[in-house]
Amino acid sequence: MEKIPEIMRAMVLEKPGEPLRLKEVTVPKPAENQVLVKIISCGVCRTDLHIVDGELNKPKLPLIIGHEIVGTVITTGKNVSNIKAGDIVGIPWLGYTCGHCKYCKSGKENLCENAKFTGYTIDGGYAEYTVADERYCFLLPEDHSGPNAAPLLCAGLIGYRSYSMAEPSAVNFGLYGFGAAASILIQVAIHQGKKVFAFTRPGDTVSQQFALSLGAFWAGDTSQLPPEKLDAAIIFAPAGDLVPTALAVTDKGGSVICGGIHMSDIPSFPYDILWGERIIRSVANLTRKDGHDFFELLKHTPVKTETEFFKLEDANLALNKLRKGDINGAAVLIP
Ligand SMILES: [Zn+2]
Ligand SMILES: [Zn+2]
Repeated sequence: MEKIPEIMRAMVLEKPGEPLRLKEVTVPKPAENQVLVKIISCGVCRTDLHIVDGELNKPKLPLIIGHEIVGTVITTGKNVSNIKAGDIVGIPWLGYTCGHCKYCKSGKENLCENAKFTGYTIDGGYAEYTVADERYCFLLPEDHSGPNAAPLLCAGLIGYRSYSMAEPSAVNFGLYGFGAAASILIQVAIHQGKKVFAFTRPGDTVSQQFALSLGAFWAGDTSQLPPEKLDAAIIFAPAGDLVPTALAVTDKGGSVICGGIHMSDIPSFPYDILWGERIIRSVANLTRKDGHDFFELLKHTPVKTETEFFKLEDANLALNKLRKGDINGAAVLIP
């Protein structure tokens, strides 16, 4: 059995608004239902930025952020039955649910009143090791068990949940904000015969080219009109003013789906652009079913993640590049 050190390196958030600090902390021990995981990689998500910037309420402090974790199980705690040492697992944002609130009981555990979230209310993956409840880990398929798989755990999953909220008959999909989530989702959508329209920040021709290289039917900036009406628009950028922008180019009966956990205020807009049974909705967190469905889908859907690797100690640099929109695809930390 692999020797487990007592101390590990971790990038720790002590106070929102301050950069993460590299610290030596105790390697956690797996409690009941938990596994100890040696981290192979951890994705850098926009939600991490919102936590570091203090835009999300009440994080655990001090906190190890990071919720797109790929790792090898080293040991298991009591009562762990489905996962064993040596397995490669993915650890997502949803870290625990109570199982008995009205949301849990109605198949909406993503809305659980007592949920815990990886890298937010429990420690996450900007470290060398972490513990996770086995019931919320996903056994990763062999094709997606390397460091490149990290963005699938949130960008991929939340993108997929957002996509699933559109009418099944929707063909024309607008993706607003062409980062990690959109770059994964476009591959799924095109494989299913959808037409993708990619919208980026004005002037971001690099992301537009990236979208076209992945098969987008059209790419432009958010001030431009797409050549066809959209059946569904998915907004990954945290900019509330995109809601009326997207609504204005969405067809009757279509949906505007907000995939981010935090967004700036939505400006008022004329009722006309909502009329015609258009829908605006948000997507919150994920359920374990989303994860199982998504990884099942990946068995017969070719998806490649575009990643830029950073050392663990360069986490602040990775976050800053993400903030500026300087990452093509996803930033991923390698401890
Ligand atoms: Zn619950
Ligand atoms: Zn995320």
